Formats: sequence, structure tokens, C-alpha cells
Amino acid sequence: MKLSHIITASISALMLSTSCSRGNDSAAGTDFDYTVDRFNDIEVLRYKVPDFENLTPQQRILVYHLTEAALAGRDILWDQNGKYNLAIRDMLESVYTGYQGDKSSADYIALEKYLKQIWFANGIHHHYSMDKFTPEFSREFLAKQVAELGVKADTATLFTVIFDPAVMAKRVNQAEGQDLIATSANNLYEGVTQAEVEAYYNAIKDTTVANPISYGLNTRIAKIDGKVVEQPYKVGGLYSAAIERITGHLTEAKKYAENPAQAATIQRLIDFYTTGDLATFDDYSIKWVEDTASQVDFINGFIESYGDPLGMTGSWESIVNFKNIEASDRTEKISANAQWFEDNSPVDARFRKPHVKGVSAKVITAAILAGDSYPATPIGINLPNANWIRAAHGSKSVTLENITQAYDEASHGNGFNEEFVIDEQTSDLLDRYLFITDNLHTDLHECLGHASGQLLPGVDPDALKAHGSTLEEARADLFALYYLADPKLLELGLLDNPDAYKAEYYKYILNGLMTQLMRIEPGKDVEEAHMRNRQLISKWAYEKGKDANVIEYVKRDGKTFIQINDYEALRNLFGQLLHEIQRIKSEGDYEAGRDLVETYAVKVDPELHREVLDRYASLNIAPYKGFVNPVYTPVKDADGNIIDVTISYDEEYIPQMLRYSREYRTL
Ligand code: ZN
Repeated sequence: MKLSHIITASISALMLSTSCSRGNDSAAGTDFDYTVDRFNDIEVLRYKVPDFENLTPQQRILVYHLTEAALAGRDILWDQNGKYNLAIRDMLESVYTGYQGDKSSADYIALEKYLKQIWFANGIHHHYSMDKFTPEFSREFLAKQVAELGVKADTATLFTVIFDPAVMAKRVNQAEGQDLIATSANNLYEGVTQAEVEAYYNAIKDTTVANPISYGLNTRIAKIDGKVVEQPYKVGGLYSAAIERITGHLTEAKKYAENPAQAATIQRLIDFYTTGDLATFDDYSIKWVEDTASQVDFINGFIESYGDPLGMTGSWESIVNFKNIEASDRTEKISANAQWFEDNSPVDARFRKPHVKGVSAKVITAAILAGDSYPATPIGINLPNANWIRAAHGSKSVTLENITQAYDEASHGNGFNEEFVIDEQTSDLLDRYLFITDNLHTDLHECLGHASGQLLPGVDPDALKAHGSTLEEARADLFALYYLADPKLLELGLLDNPDAYKAEYYKYILNGLMTQLMRIEPGKDVEEAHMRNRQLISKWAYEKGKDANVIEYVKRDGKTFIQINDYEALRNLFGQLLHEIQRIKSEGDYEAGRDLVETYAVKVDPELHREVLDRYASLNIAPYKGFVNPVYTPVKDADGNIIDVTISYDEEYIPQMLRYSREYRTL
């Protein structure tokens, strides 16, 4: 299995967030309507592309061509996800747009809902659960419409695929003991068994080289004339029409590259699409990861392999973006001061690193989401995936801050704060400072927390065994929490108010003691490492601060609330726990680590758990979110040359999907 490096939006990190008030952003307006649509378990949002106007015209034209190269690949993913997806989409869109009957009928409304679902999932299976959608309109209704409108379709096959729950039931099946290829409905394999595919790869894989290609990344495997063969996605191969359109736009984009290195990177990607050669893809990936000078950047290709039960073939995706210089300044400042943070951390001097190097990461603004990153999208990405390239050439770690901001803004008014936050004063604090302190917490955790500290000589890095990842996450979180309240952040200009940190402290404790329980089924313990870490820190701080009443559970009208009475004391407690967990890690003290985890991180109070689940359910918050894209329009001179590009945000969900199907239909 390939390593995949995607960060998806965690429910806990987002639900509490409300509006952000990062000073100069207020001009961007409260009248921007983030919510676009809501159906089933989905909420569709839109996102802003701040500072697009501040790029140069050349950069804007570069972005434009890259966004066209992104949208041109849409049908590839649809077809990878299932071989009838495009035919089903065509048939249903024809019925939907040609429909002459009663639009208030239950069948028509159900057809629209089903279309919204398959658009969102890029196919007939749920993007997350992988289960096939169940249509709520009748077979007779659809048959009648197809006949009346004269829609050309292989209805015998397509109706079975749509209406028979047993046919192509799951897109990706991971259940152990079954033939994962035969039982998965995706279109990455045809007529082969799992054993045949494994034997095929075992025969061709060269495990002796230090720089192996990513076998199978851009191929479908089929049996032809009794022989197992790879069918590459490339110009002249599978998906040629879509890929030619992608390379056409990449060729245009290359003319507007910011520098020769970026032009060479784009050319290598064109070479890869033209030849299908995976060594060329590696060469492209190296050029791409080493280009840190360009402001405009993009992902375009067969990247993540979650869509393949064997983790070989990459799902096609594209994200075009540009560096958010102001926000990246934040991560650069933190990294530049890594040694100061290390030298002043509240741990035993023996456990500090004499020479620490912060990991650098940039903050980006997404300009378009496409393929497997659309409409549902990650909020952080770390690429390339090839381990040997990561080791030899590094990786790019990015945060899509305009996407996290859209999540954050859209959650405002979802009722979460009103339900769970103790009072208006605290709510206001969260409104004002949670967005920035949440981002800073992530920066400190990622850039410094994990990189801080050292083991004593001879200590086994795996000494904490099964509790290692919980304790490691706790260490990074505590490092971040401790420094969020430090005057150093004001001095560096990263915060403008000495009380700002309280927003993150309140959210953290509320989440760790209560609201993250909404993600756990009744009767279950806390299992996941990040969740255990948050409960460990919160419960430990509650217990140790009990005598001084630092954190208090307050009951009001039968509901439980969290009140923090002494934020400074809470910071000291975070420092003490960091001191102890660093000692445990540096000395490899397994027993002490296990005791901490077992005492504080695992057990759930069933009564409080039930209360949180009930209160959360009453809010009716959509579990999954995704986005519509902005629309880019080229500005042309009298000769038809593109001289600039404008952006607009007014396209709705259904029109965008229908337009993409019209304008980017390639396969
Ligand atoms: Zn971490």
C-alpha cells in the first residue's frame, strides 16, 4: 500500500468555529453567502479566493489555464469510479433538463436529489461510505421519461445498476477475506481476480532499486485474450480525449509560467501524460517538490489511491492554488524562531534539542478544486506520495486556508455555540479569536511540536508501544497550547491580544471533556489516538486543577457546560503535563505512559456521552461538506488574446454541475 498524506476536516475542529475576525478581512464582507445547498447528509458551500485580484495579470492567466486543465479531467474520475457512471449521468441529466411534467411530483424531486448525490460523489456510490445510493424515484417513472424524451441509453443495463441494490453495491470493499477486486465496483480492474493482480505485480516489481516507480498508479488492469495486462491512462491510451485536453491547457499554461523551473515542471507533466511513463512522473514530482519559488502552484494527476482496494491506482484529481503570502509568513516566523521555542519550553533541559530545525509548511489559497478533490476536498495536503522522493527531495505540506475559512464561516449560526458554549462572553471570544488561534495551534503542533525534544541516549523510540501515538500527539498539542499563551506570539506579531489564546483553550477543553464524544457510538470507549490525546490532556488538567477550581462542570436546566475559571493556571497545568510527557518519551517510561493513557484518555462517562449525542442530534448539522468552484472568465483583446481573467462566485450547485457536464464532457 502506498502511503497517503491527506488531511480531512475533522468534525471537532470545525463545529465550534464561528466567524473569524482577522482584521483586514472584514472588508470582504459578511454578505458573502457560504451556504449553497443542503440535501441528505451533504452541505454544499462556496469559498472565496482572497487576493486573486492581487496576482499579476500573467499569474491570473496562468491560474486560468491550470483551472481549465483541472476541469478537463472531470470525466476521468467519473469513469474510474464506475464504468456506468458517465452513461448514468448522461441519461439522468437528459431526463432532468428535458422534463416537461409536474416538478412538484415526488418522483421528480427524488430524481433531482439522486442527481445531486451522484454529482457530489462523482458517481453512484457515496464518496465516504462507498455504498451505492438508493434512488427514491420509481423505475417506471424513469422508464417513462426516457421513452417520452427519446433519450438514448442502454436502459436494460443502466436500470439494473441503478435499481438493483445487489449489483455494484460498494465502490471500494476493504473487508478482509473477500476478493477485494471482485467485490469492488470501481473501474480500475476488469475481469481479473485479486490473486491474479497480486501475482502480476509480484512478477514485475523490482524491489532491489532504491527509487522504485509507483507501480500501477496510472493504469487499469484487464484480462485480454486470457492475459493480464495494464492499460495505461495516457495520450493514445485510456482516457486519451480527456488527457489531450488537459495537456492542451497545460501547454497554454506553460507560456505563462512564473519562471523557467516552473515551465520545466509543467513540461514534465505533459511528457508524463503523453508517454504514461512512471519514471517521468517521478521526475516531474521531483521538479514539482523542489519548486518553492513560484507563487502559483497546482496538483494535476493520478495521486491518491484510496479508490483502489489494493492501493495501487491513483484517482485523478487537480487543485490549483497560490501561496497565501501573509499567512505563510506566520509559519515561516514560527519556523525561524524554532530554537527560541525549544530553549524556553517547560521541559527538563536534558530533553531539549540543542539544534532544532522547524519543518516548513506553506499556507495556500485554493483557486479550483477538481476530480477527486471536488466537491469534497481535503484541508491539508502533503505530497508527493513516493517515499523515496520524500526522503531524498522532501515534500510540500500545505494548508488550504480559504477552505478552512469557508468551513469556519459557514458553521456560524449552526447552533453549536448556542448549545454548548457556557455564555455569550465566551462565545464572543470564540467568534473573535478561534479561527486564528486554531490555525496557530495547528502551525505550532506541526512545525514545532512534533520536531521538539530528544530521547536520552539508548532509549528505544518505540518504547511506549501502543500508547506511543497518543502520547506523541499529546506532546505536540501541549507544546502548541503552552506557547499559544506566550507573550512571544504577540512579540512576533502573530496575535494582537494577550487574551486571544483563551479562545483555543476553551474550545480545546470543551472538545476534550465533552463535544468530541459526539463522534463515538454509545457504549464504546475512546479509541482514536488524536481523540485519546485530547481527552487525556483535558481530563488531566481538570483533575489536577480540581482543588483550585481551574475547570468546572456547570449544570444548567439539566444541561452540562464547561467553565474555565483560571486560564493562567490552566496554562501552567499544560506546562506541567508537557514536562511529564516529554520525560516519559525521553526516558521511554512505558509504565508511566500507559498509566496516563488508561487513567485519563480511554473511559467515557455514559451519562454525559448520551447527553452530548442527544444535544448534537438536535442541531441537524450535515456530516459531510463540499464546495462549488468560482467561475473564471478570460478578458480578451480585439484579436482574441487573453489579457486578463476575472473571478465570480455566483454560480449555484445544479447549474455548475450541468455546465461542467456540457463543457467538459470528454469521454
Ligand atoms: Zn500531530
